Order: sequence, then structure tokens, then C-alpha cells
Amino acid sequence: MPYSYDDQNIFAKILRGEIPNKTVLETAHTLAFEDIQPQAPVHVLVIPKGPYVCYDHFAQEASEAEIVDFTRAVGEVCRLTGVQPGEGGEGFRAIANTGAHGVQEVPHFHLHILGGRVLGRMVGRAQG
Ligand code: 5GP
Repeated sequence: MPYSYDDQNIFAKILRGEIPNKTVLETAHTLAFEDIQPQAPVHVLVIPKGPYVCYDHFAQEASEAEIVDFTRAVGEVCRLTGVQPGEGGEGFRAIANTGAHGVQEVPHFHLHILGGRVLGRMVGRAQG
């Protein structure tokens, strides 16, 4: 079943300027802004401006220009926030929660960039 994009989701409203955000970076096809409830000293959300529900949707249907722009924006966000290990930073985690099992809350693709502290294990052990 093809993805159906809900243009009333909170990130669509941010992209339309209906809700304010703390912008870290804006490019032709991408917006990066601070998460409203940061889980780490660095917690930035990187989103495409196009109507993509989740990462696999973006990966399969976005244009090459959008994908390149998004990927370069992720690199620039890492540089701007100082988390790049190659540049003296202490590293980061990039997370794309997707769908029900991924516990995705906002149905507009977003990549979390988290850093500034040790982030612990990738996933909990509890349910295997
Ligand atoms: P998800 O669980 O979908 O991967 O993550 C959604 C993220 O969006 C959460 O970390 C949440 O704090 C963030 N968020 C939800 N509403 C807003 C908002 O209005 N502004 C910003 N900047 N972040 C939001």
C-alpha cells in the first residue's frame, strides 16, 4: 500500500511556518531544528521539506537532489553541533524511528541527531 502523507502533522506545520522552531540549518530541500523535548545536550531533528512519511518512503521516492541535500545537511548539522569525532567531537547517534514498531510519533520523516553525552545501549534488552 502506498504511503499517504498527512499534511496536518506537526512538522508540516513547522515547514509552513505555522509553528515556530529553533532552526539549526535550512537548505533547499531540508530543515534542521532543535527538538522541543531534548533527550541529550544535542538533539536536532533533520527533516526533508518534501512530503515523506518515514525513512524508507524518503529513500525510495525522494529525488536524488533531495537525498543528496538531506545527507549533506546531516553532515553540516554534525559539524555545527560539534559532535563529529573526526573533528574533535565525542560522537553522536542518528535515529529514524519508523512506524509502529519503531515508535514513530510524527508521520513526517525525521532523523534525530543526538549527542553531548554517552547515550547508552542502542536498544533495550527487555523484550528481545
Ligand atoms: P518520533 O518519536 O516521531 O521519532 O519523534 C518526534 C520528536 O518530535 C520528539 O522527539 C518530539 O519531542 C519532537 N516534537 C514533537 N512536537 C514538536 C514540536 O512542535 N517542535 C519540535 N521542535 N519538536 C517536536
